[in-house]
Amino acid sequence: MDQKEQLLRQSLADIMKKLYSRGLISVYGGNASALLDDNSALFITPSGFNKENLTKEDLVKVDFRSGLALGDGKPSSELKTHMSVYGTNSAVRAVVHAHPTTLVGLCTAGHNFGVYTPEQAILVGKPAVIDFCMGEELAKQASSLCLIYSAVVVKNHGVFAWGSSIMEAYAKIEILEEAAKMVLAGFSVPGMNAFDEQMLEAVRKNYKPGR
Ligand SMILES: [Zn+2]
Repeated sequence: MDQKEQLLRQSLADIMKKLYSRGLISVYGGNASALLDDNSALFITPSGFNKENLTKEDLVKVDFRSGLALGDGKPSSELKTHMSVYGTNSAVRAVVHAHPTTLVGLCTAGHNFGVYTPEQAILVGKPAVIDFCMGEELAKQASSLCLIYSAVVVKNHGVFAWGSSIMEAYAKIEILEEAAKMVLAGFSVPGMNAFDEQMLEAVRKNYKPGR
């Protein structure tokens, strides 16, 4: 296994531990993948594994053309959704899926989720929200949304986010859940507004998030 592969595998295992430790997934929930630079294959979390104890050896290598596993391991059941995003948006190098309870709860209940924080404005934007679906239908919808949005919330389920790196895709989920917690806190005292155009303009001029 070359160094690049080792690094991607380790980063994916690390991000799943982070998702679990931050309460963004349950122990068997969520998945993540990353595409090799030459687009020949991707690494994805295995189906049904305890995500807290995942090691880099547990990651499954999948041929990007055929979608078939190369070697041992059964890929995540969401493989098709990950592949559909890579297949449509060539700028995407990593996809992360989690179950952030506040974000998904608000969206499932019908809240029209806007943009609430500077980090969200610059790094994520407004997420797409779709009705519950799985398998082929989810892959189809993710494919049709991934050029416009950088995250999609699936009602009664979770969120998929993508980006140019594993950390970027992960950060989008953390940022969305942080904003969702603010919205929920704001509901206890009426007056939590989404950003309007003027606020967004001020953020674009003044806010430079860390990399
Ligand atoms: Zn899920």
